[in-house]
Amino acid sequence: MRLDDLLSSLKSTGHRVTPQRLAILRILAESREHPSVDRIYRQLRKNFPTTSPATVYNTLECLKEIGEVLELPFGSGSRYDGRNPDPHPHLVCTMCGTIEDLDIDLRPAAEEAATSRGYANVHHRLELYGVCPSCQER
Ligand SMILES: [Zn+2]
Ligand SMILES: [Zn+2]
Repeated sequence: MRLDDLLSSLKSTGHRVTPQRLAILRILAESREHPSVDRIYRQLRKNFPTTSPATVYNTLECLKEIGEVLELPFGSGSRYDGRNPDPHPHLVCTMCGTIEDLDIDLRPAAEEAATSRGYANVHHRLELYGVCPSCQER
């Protein structure tokens, strides 16, 4: 389970796991919607009303440090994928901001670019944009 992976990664790298952190990990492990800090914070506050956004930021920083969360920076702020920390393509709705994973493997293209052009540390970021079905209905 993804939650167990996140927990053991944090623990094995010497990070503390507080009840708030555990709740954030759970949100990240279960959410398919690539939540923003604000979204995570609002969900967290239901169970931890006195917690602050800094708790969410700190936890995300730790997870980034150990490579267990993928940050997707946008002009409107970052979104996070805690289910799959490896770079992968996304489909973004320009109306409501929904972000879905796209099942396209770009690693062969990255490897090809590295081999044929002699680049080191080749990585990628790809988003396709459009209007999702529920926004089209509006
Ligand atoms: Zn939409
Ligand atoms: Zn994703």
